[in-house]
Order: sequence, then C-alpha cells, then structure tokens
Amino acid sequence: MFSLIIATRNQDKMKEIRAILKGLNIKLYSLLDFDEKIETEENGSSFCQNASLKAEKASKILAGFCLGEDSGLSVDYLGGRPGIYSARFAGENCTYSENNQRLLKELAGVPAYKRRAKFTTCLALAKDGKTIELFEGSIRGMIAFMPRGNFGFGYDPLFYLPRYKKTMAELKPEIKNKISHRYRALLKFRNYLKKNLRKLQEDIDS
Ligand code: IMP
Repeated sequence: MFSLIIATRNQDKMKEIRAILKGLNIKLYSLLDFDEKIETEENGSSFCQNASLKAEKASKILAGFCLGEDSGLSVDYLGGRPGIYSARFAGENCTYSENNQRLLKELAGVPAYKRRAKFTTCLALAKDGKTIELFEGSIRGMIAFMPRGNFGFGYDPLFYLPRYKKTMAELKPEIKNKISHRYRALLKFRNYLKKNLRKLQEDIDS
C-alpha cells in the first residue's frame, strides 16, 4: 500500500485530510506518528513556499513521500492579511479565539460589502528534500460580524458563505469537506495520485 506522510502536527487539519482522502488506498501518517523532532521555520512568502518548506524538511528526515500543507485566510480589506501569518495573527502561540477577536477588531465598523475574504490551501508533495508537485485550492466568502457555529476550527466561525447563509463552522464536516479550500487542493492531489500512483510506487520500491 502507498504510504504518505502529512507534514503537520495540526490535528484539526489532519482530521479533515483523513476524511477527504478516505477511500484512496493509501496509508496516511502525520508527524505525530514519528519520534523525530521536525520543526520547519515557515519563512516563505507564500502558502506554496511554506508548504514546500514543510514537505522538503520532513522528507529529508523521513523516508518516503511527504505532503506539506500550508493554509490561511486572506481578507481583501486588510490587503490580504493575515495570509501566511493566519496561525499567529494575534501573536505567537495564540488561540483560534484570540485570532478571531483580532480579526473582528481590525474589521470593526467595516460594512458587509467590504468584508470579502478567501481561504487558501497549498499542498506540496516532496521526496528526499525536493518538491515534486504543488496543488492549490481556495474558497471565497465574507467575514461575519460575530462568530457562529461549533464545527471546524480556526477562522471557521467567522467565515460566512452567502450561498449557504451559514458560517463554515455551522456547516457539518461532511459539507465543509466537500467544498473547502483544503478539499479543492486535495482533489487536485487525488487526481494526480490516480494518474501517477504506479510511477511513485516504483520510485519507492527501486
Ligand atoms: P498553518 O499551520 O501555518 O498552515 O496555519 C494555518 C492557520 O490558518 C490555522 O491556524 C487557522 O488559523 C487558519 N486556517 C487554515 N485552514 C483553516 C480552515 O479550514 N478553517 C479555519 N481556519 C483555517
């Protein structure tokens, strides 16, 4: 069976990735499955650069294919912020809730029509410290005026989808995982795998 290491320790992301890739005949691992301490300095200037850094670092230390994931929220009114700094918008080691409060503060008094935003995920597939392929997915929405919903994680309670009249955190995981930025990037990865699985497997076996 094809094995794939997801270069993350984020259990919220991992849960979604497992759900979305379910049904593919691959064995998924996260960095939590290994004793090696793999820390990547996310000093890239785009989601894809950071995804590559994560995948390359992990694949230098662990044998086999690694998939790096970098994602975040870009708010039009804030010139694309927090973007690659989404995890630490309110400061190092801050909570999801602190990030949401910071976002609401920065958007205080901003009317609905100026609150457009986008979630992006970039995935990087790497082996032996080199990136082989990148996959990107995004979804547009609006920043709500107050948090709503308990599903999902991160900025989901503030990410309002006009089409559903709900925030991402009000959508059941089965729905989020069929429309999200992560789903869209993983769908591209899934299609790539379907086409290239044999070649990748040969690479491992050789
Ligand atoms: P990363 O670990 O550097 O990729 O940071 C990702 C950050 O972006 C997370 O900590 C969340 O704050 C935010 N984020 C990424 N994906 C999602 C999502 O699907 N929903 C809500 N927030 C997300």
